[in-house]
Amino acid sequence: MSDIIRRDPHAEWIARNRLHPLHAALQPAQHSWMGPNGVLRKNPHGIGFIGPNGVKRIDRSGAQQGGTAKRTAAVQVQLPLHRVVQPAFYIAVVPDMVGGRLSSHDRDLLGLARQLAGTDGAVLALVFGEHKENTFATAGVDRLLQLDGEQFSGYAPEQRVQGLRAVDNQFAPRHWLLPDSRSGGGELGRRFAAALGERPATRVWQVKDEACIGRAGAGLQDLARPLARVILAGAECAEPVSESRHEALPVELSTAVARSLSRIEDLGAVAVDPAAIPMAEAEFIFSGGNGVKDWALFHQAAAALGATEGASRVAVDDGFMARDRQVGASGTWVTARVYVAVGISGAIQHLQGIAACDKVVAINLDPGCDMIKRADLSVIGESAALLTALIEAVAAYHNETRRDAA
Ligand SMILES: Cc1cc2nc3c(=O)[nH]c(=O)nc-3n(C[C@H](O)[C@H](O)[C@H](O)COP(=O)(O)OP(=O)(O)OC[C@H]3O[C@@H](n4cnc5c(N)ncnc54)[C@H](O)[C@@H]3O)c2cc1C
Repeated sequence: MSDIIRRDPHAEWIARNRLHPLHAALQPAQHSWMGPNGVLRKNPHGIGFIGPNGVKRIDRSGAQQGGTAKRTAAVQVQLPLHRVVQPAFYIAVVPDMVGGRLSSHDRDLLGLARQLAGTDGAVLALVFGEHKENTFATAGVDRLLQLDGEQFSGYAPEQRVQGLRAVDNQFAPRHWLLPDSRSGGGELGRRFAAALGERPATRVWQVKDEACIGRAGAGLQDLARPLARVILAGAECAEPVSESRHEALPVELSTAVARSLSRIEDLGAVAVDPAAIPMAEAEFIFSGGNGVKDWALFHQAAAALGATEGASRVAVDDGFMARDRQVGASGTWVTARVYVAVGISGAIQHLQGIAACDKVVAINLDPGCDMIKRADLSVIGESAALLTALIEAVAAYHNETRRDAA
């Protein structure tokens, strides 16, 4: 029996959020039980203690929920290895790899691929160019194919389609899975399906009983259709792999990839004013609250980092930020990869708005506030001093890179 404590951050968040419609459903009486795969499951909210005033307290720092102490154990315990010696078939996945790493969307897709691969099939992940990822094995990848070469770098969808076609010829995957995202997967998947002459299933959120269900009609309707060969799936289409380890064996193409006609010329990324990016689409948000005492310094820090500015409702109500910058239940629900909260306490209405953010960094004077509990990285201190230090650190970093380049 394994002693791994598994966490479901989304469920934990719902259970903490008293306003969420599923909150009551996530308050089970059972404290621990055996999961279907023989792993002992524990309800983190069953773990609590009675405070000095007779009130039940739950430590939300994560320490009691498989956080600090238990996480060390999770690292040491080896997950069971799933080995596919002679794959009966392949399920190919083309992750977006934004920033060179698997995103949560990519991991959901790999979870879906594992479902489709069963025990005999192998999940083949295809990565273009260099990457910084070292968790392919625990994300469910049996075979890893890396397509290197300058022809694939930058915006090169036509050349990438040629790469996918070469993979298709050699491995003949039963299904192709791509993220239906704006980070490249949505466009590449559609182009590739057209090149194959296949009708892709798009915006898929569920695959069940040989059928896939996707969003249609401006997201208001579901469209069910037989399982397609090319599937473009949305985030949360499946649970990411968490209970097994895979080989992630490197494989190679036996033939060279044909060169496509260069009908597209990549002129490089266009500099965009971060302030002009809609909050809901911003990848990097620098948000200020009531704890910001020097707003000029806050704007300076946001500009130095190249981040989109956001704010708590108090900062907006006090007139320091425009209403369209408000993050939260009555503002914008954001999905940034990095969300920095400066002097924001983490009221439930604010936390609702950042629930989908990947990494949260909190700068706050109060180590016990809810934003610190939610954050992946916390800096305890006075905001003005920390913002000044941040601006200096960014300037020093830029000076160094400029010196190295010269
Ligand atoms: C119906 C309703 C809807 C709402 N919708 C939203 C919403 O969409 N978005 C939203 O944000 N709020 C919303 N609110 C308001 C919400 O409840 C909180 O009041 C608000 O989020 C608090 O903002 P804050 O964290 O900036 O301020 P505070 O709660 O005052 O917190 C300030 C924080 O800054 C820290 N701090 C103070 N001084 C410093 C310093 N010098 N350096 C560093 N840290 C410091 C403090 O420790 C504290 O944690 C809503 C409320 C209601 C009732």
